[in-house]
Amino acid sequence: MPTRLSSRKLTGRLAEFPLIEDLAHRFGQTGRSVLCGIGDDAAVLRPPPGHLLLLTTDLLAEDVHFTCSTATFDEIGYKAAAANLSDIAAMGGVPRYLLVSLAIPAGRTQAEIRRLYRGMMSACRPYQVELIGGDTSASRQGLFISLTLTGTAKPGQVLTRRGAQVGDLLYVTGTLGDSLAGLQLLSIAKRRRVEEVPAIRRQDRQYLIERHRRPSPRVAVGRLLAAHRFATSAIDLSDGLSGDLAHICEQSGVGAEVDASALPLSPACLRYAMARHKDPVQLALAGGEDYELLFTVSPGNGAGVRQLARSVGCRLSCIGKIRPKRIGLRLVGSNGPPRKLVVTSYRHFEAAPQAQ
Ligand code: ADP
Ligand code: MG
Repeated sequence: MPTRLSSRKLTGRLAEFPLIEDLAHRFGQTGRSVLCGIGDDAAVLRPPPGHLLLLTTDLLAEDVHFTCSTATFDEIGYKAAAANLSDIAAMGGVPRYLLVSLAIPAGRTQAEIRRLYRGMMSACRPYQVELIGGDTSASRQGLFISLTLTGTAKPGQVLTRRGAQVGDLLYVTGTLGDSLAGLQLLSIAKRRRVEEVPAIRRQDRQYLIERHRRPSPRVAVGRLLAAHRFATSAIDLSDGLSGDLAHICEQSGVGAEVDASALPLSPACLRYAMARHKDPVQLALAGGEDYELLFTVSPGNGAGVRQLARSVGCRLSCIGKIRPKRIGLRLVGSNGPPRKLVVTSYRHFEAAPQAQ
């Protein structure tokens, strides 16, 4: 039996039921579609009639996905929710309800957990996502945070990784590599090695770190792509472009060619790469946690997609093409002949790759 936080003060400072009550009071207000939210054995919802239900879940482990010494609880919460919102965005859905399960180690305070929820709910607020439940346990080692987010979509308006066709154009929203650059800046600051600190402007540093800490899930773009049936496949960039493109290709049974010169890089990321003598293309290909959308579009819908992106003020770049499976993943447009695109994304249970 797992250890639970009992209503006695098991951890010295935290008790399960007062904590849940406090969280329900602060963050558990719901609208009319929730017949029963936090407080009963299960939540009861009235989904929009005729819609499909999307479900996504993420488990975050302390010192694997986040570190309490380098991120605030607000930031950890925000990012955990943003990652789930991004998954619903990549399916073209409308995010709706959130469940949060926690395993809390001794020593954590109610104020810290409150800040965690404040961060989560601040990411959810623009989409009116409602907190409807969760579970709470003690942990013998480290904080565990599991989020489950539901979404809805109309039948026929769901984006998957499976539909890319040979000849489709490959698009990506926003800019790539910023989050990895921000993470590297944070780890340099943590190591306090002055000689490593790149000579870049303060605004660039702040921008890159902010992109790492507070990514913007592309919910509006995902919904529009699905509603107009423009995208043949889509994925959100959580692991890095190379790895996430590989997922689309594997699931669609196709290959792809990426044009290195078309990869969208922010001015801050370019200046960061230059200051650290890094290849910005590598940052864009390997960088995880950008939470941009990567999607494919049949050539006839290219103009429609560009117009759609303009309508929501989202940068959009065509970065390549879907090719036959036998081509595999290829990088063109950098110096020299086309070469194999090496998958350099983060993989659990393996040593983390180093973007050079
Ligand atoms: P059970 O014993 O059935 O698991 P709990 O006492 O754990 O019930 O939960 C009581 C209510 O509080 C439920 O509605 C549950 O969804 C909610 N809840 C429990 N933990 C959390 C949490 N960490 N965040 C949000 N809601 C929670
Ligand atoms: Mg419970």
